Amino acid sequence: MMQGIMTGKTSIYGIIGNPVSHSLSPVMQNAAMAAANIDAVYVPFKVSVEELPVAVSGLRSLNICGFNVTIPHKTAIIPLLDELAPSALQAGAVNTVVRVHDRLIGHNTDGDGMIKSLRSDLDCRLDGAHVLLVGAGGAARGALAALCSAGVASISVLNRTLDSAELLIADFFKCFKKVELNAYRLNQIPAPVIARADLLINATSLGMQGEKIAGVALALMPDHAKVYDMVYNPPVTPLLEEARQSGRSALNGLGMLIAQGELAFSLWHGKPPVAGVMLRAVSGL
Ligand code: NAP
Repeated sequence: MMQGIMTGKTSIYGIIGNPVSHSLSPVMQNAAMAAANIDAVYVPFKVSVEELPVAVSGLRSLNICGFNVTIPHKTAIIPLLDELAPSALQAGAVNTVVRVHDRLIGHNTDGDGMIKSLRSDLDCRLDGAHVLLVGAGGAARGALAALCSAGVASISVLNRTLDSAELLIADFFKCFKKVELNAYRLNQIPAPVIARADLLINATSLGMQGEKIAGVALALMPDHAKVYDMVYNPPVTPLLEEARQSGRSALNGLGMLIAQGELAFSLWHGKPPVAGVMLRAVSGL
């Protein structure tokens, strides 16, 4: 885009979700494309569950070059795509779609983005770790696959709806035989499972509206245990506040957002964004 002016050649990228107005992806991706002199814009599209099929069909017809997928569409979009990359196949969830000629190809950059942030921002050692993963939706799927690949010892999936948690781990049993996988209802976690945890990850939307996560007693976790909240808006959720008050290392999902966004950018544009440009774009907000 020449000096911020759209032309007939400007490519369109975007994000679909509901809600989507809280997303920082438009700010990050537009800043990164401008810094790389790419003639493109990235726009948010609010898409309801009922309208997902017609929205994806519309994105196809409009020749959108690529888009991110956020809450609540990460799994529902799969049958609407032409192909899945290994990252999305393994996770069973899609957060990035790349258009190649007339085909829409689903990828998952959430999992690798989270692992990068856990290691570099929260200084986590994942090899052999015992992890409590709260949530069983699209983000949790990506996280589960990436954590298994990173060599954790066990993952306990805690979810409001037990069936979803059980279904989630059932999908992973065969692929990751060395990782101990368990599913529990959010408010029925056995105390010994909490007592051995090295890391708790929130992969639900709880906290976006200031909600607490009832049923997980942080006080029962070992002193060294860390807390990672995928929610990044607001920057300090009640979970993070409670964790920090008890002296734990605890971080929001901004680093994951940036890392998954950098990976998506590379998939769309064939090169990584200018170093630090996405972080600077969202830090100034
Ligand atoms: P999703 O597929 O809709 O899953 C939502 C999850 O939240 C489900 O496990 C659901 O439990 C749980 N949940 C929702 N409302 C709840 C409530 N009132 N009480 C208890 N549990 C509740 O959404 P998603 O795509 O996985 O996203 C989840 C969160 O992760 C969102 O906040 C999203 O912004 C965040 N995220 C952040 C990043 C990042 O880069 N930082 C990346 C991906 C996602 P049920 O199964 O019982 O409904």
